[in-house]
Amino acid sequence: MTSAVEQLHAVKAKIANAEREAKREPGTVTLVAVSKTFDAEDIRPVIEAGQRVFGENRVQEAQGKWPALTEAFPDLELHLIGPLQSNKAKEAVSLFDVIETVDREKIAAELAREIARQGRTLKFYVQVNTGSEPQKAGIEPSEAIAFVKRCRDVHGLTIEGLMCIPPAEENPGPHFALLEKLAREAGVAKLSMGMSGDYETAVAFGATSVRVGSAIFGNR
Ligand SMILES: *Cc1c(COP(=O)(O)O)cnc(C)c1O
Repeated sequence: MTSAVEQLHAVKAKIANAEREAKREPGTVTLVAVSKTFDAEDIRPVIEAGQRVFGENRVQEAQGKWPALTEAFPDLELHLIGPLQSNKAKEAVSLFDVIETVDREKIAAELAREIARQGRTLKFYVQVNTGSEPQKAGIEPSEAIAFVKRCRDVHGLTIEGLMCIPPAEENPGPHFALLEKLAREAGVAKLSMGMSGDYETAVAFGATSVRVGSAIFGNR
């Protein structure tokens, strides 16, 4: 079996190639290695190979494995990429550096309160439900621009970008294009889009970060 470290290098090479093909500056796309369901022992070699940015989708699971790792490697950057319940805002603010899944007023207010209480500095993305799927988290595309503005003006959150998870069975290109357009109109610079199956496409559509799990760590 190919090791996670070998797969990490392969994914990085493909990202570099996709940047080149899209005529983008080398190194402008950040790889967020998605380590959900994998243990600290699986993750550590990937950190030792130089990877610094990681994504987790559950607050409780992340609390179990990351505090020891961030103590050992203080320059790690941890992203929350899964849905956040407001009763977990406190833990999320204390553990994560970036929360990519802000998608409703209540959670924005709760995060703002926790940041003030804990005196932490975090960055945020607004998650957009580009396919308007009823079961999926994220704000409706038609409400995204106004919501970004409210997150900034009313709640004082540093919204850096937008994030999306296109419908699994659809061509992701139009969803990536929509997210790029909304980000431009909302005046945010970052685009978190693309996963193991479509990260090279996402780079072509302007992703500034891609969230890749199984292509690095293997099947979950
Ligand atoms: C699990 C997950 C990923 C990574 O998915 P892979 O297909 O394993 O690369 C990316 N983004 C989110 C939000 C996820 O939950």
